[in-house]
Amino acid sequence: MREIQCRLLVIGAGPGGYVCAIRAGQLGVDTVIVDAEPPGGTCLNVGCIPSKALIHAAEEFHRIAALSSTAAMGISAGPPTLDLAATMAWKDGIVSRLTGGVATLLRKAKVRLVAGTATIRDGKTVEVATPEGPVRIRAEVLVIATGSEPIEIPSLPFGGKVISSTGALALTEVPERLAVVGGGYIGLELGIAFAKLGASVTVVEAGPRILPQYDAELTGPVAQRLTRLGIRVLTGARAGGLSDSGALRVAGSDGAEEIAADKVLVTVGRRPRATGAGIDGLRLAMAGPFLKIDERCRTSMTGVLAIGDVTGEPMLAHRAMAQGEMVAELVAGQPRAWDKRAIPAVCFTDPEIVSVGLSPDELRSQGHEPLIGLFPFAANGRAMTADDETGFIRVTARPDTHEVLGIQAVGAGVAELAGGFALALEMGARLEDIAGTIHAHPTRGEALHEACLRALGHALHI
Ligand code: FAD
Repeated sequence: MREIQCRLLVIGAGPGGYVCAIRAGQLGVDTVIVDAEPPGGTCLNVGCIPSKALIHAAEEFHRIAALSSTAAMGISAGPPTLDLAATMAWKDGIVSRLTGGVATLLRKAKVRLVAGTATIRDGKTVEVATPEGPVRIRAEVLVIATGSEPIEIPSLPFGGKVISSTGALALTEVPERLAVVGGGYIGLELGIAFAKLGASVTVVEAGPRILPQYDAELTGPVAQRLTRLGIRVLTGARAGGLSDSGALRVAGSDGAEEIAADKVLVTVGRRPRATGAGIDGLRLAMAGPFLKIDERCRTSMTGVLAIGDVTGEPMLAHRAMAQGEMVAELVAGQPRAWDKRAIPAVCFTDPEIVSVGLSPDELRSQGHEPLIGLFPFAANGRAMTADDETGFIRVTARPDTHEVLGIQAVGAGVAELAGGFALALEMGARLEDIAGTIHAHPTRGEALHEACLRALGHALHI
């Protein structure tokens, strides 16, 4: 068997693994990374990037379709046509550019990429099944970055008309009737996109409302938009299997119902790949379904680290990347530890939601009555000129020190504000710091300025 020796071996080339490998390579660490799929992991291949491409295309189609029935801003258009196969080909082109770009960056950093499926033999030895035959890799440090995969409902196994997010991102025709099981961010992002492309969409959510990880004030504008898009939302409803006629069986508070569907998209969460691939054999300590790590991403076995979705919530690409960068620097001997104050979460629904830090409810549950400032986009000039005044920016601060503890927003394009929100929390900003910062006019970001002024009791434009 061919053998490779290295200092650092990374299993999984998703955002966690590839960032770890690039940074380690930059720092002169002899690094090997293994993945059977093109580099980029879930995020680049079947997650963040292709879903956002589809969301964008759907929005363009929907906007033109709307202009064909009602002229807005003095613009009218003929009814648009859609070739979803061509849309998907455009999306695939973006994915290829990015995955090819990651491969180039790995090469530039002198990282060796081994294409194949890895099986861990012990904490320092991994065997990889490659198309050219098995390869044994011996490493001083092992990083597990195997990510996560969609959870299957036993009564609705993937196959046929039952699809995961990966299947939805590969459709070449818009299903006439789409049932989405699970009202979390992945289901809603895709459900909204397909509704805009013309599908009749029903969302089945077991909880009392959609997007349960966000508070009702934030999710309200999304719920209203779903209604306007004609998306039917069943909350407190559990999906069972398919009936003989292929309809989706749903048990809700109002009784049982069968929902006719051409495709059933199951998005009930993701499971960490924390078992299999020989990981079980290491008998690592677990934190629920995740690998247990400390503030330096060390597992319970010396020399074995873990990053990304396999290590816990929030299962987001930017958390994986930040862990990957930190671990590379630790392996290179730099003093690092996980000291982030905030991990932004963005929901690319219509309208978008951003949450950084604590919400008012979370603070209240910790026994603190926060200072809150909320500024609606209805009073923001840029939102008016963009013809979408839905939503707001909300800031939450400590009443005694005015330290900002959370910033949330819902509205068109607010995802782009996430970096600024996170910076404010990372820098330990007080309300006065943001209120004293000149925000460019006219921008949606001015709503953050005004939200802080409002929390201080002297908003100017409301
Ligand atoms: P992954 O990206 O899952 O990568 C793990 C890699 O390990 C995979 O490439 C896999 O092939 C490889 N691997 C596993 N086992 C082995 C083995 N035995 N041998 C070799 N290789 C192996 N996150 C965001 O932050 N923003 C978003 O907008 C967003 N949108 C999403 C939309 C969808 C539809 C989905 C499904 C996910 C989305 N996510 C989003 C989540 C994001 O994709 C993940 O949080 C992120 O990819 C996790 O990175 P990771 O490196 O931990 O693992």
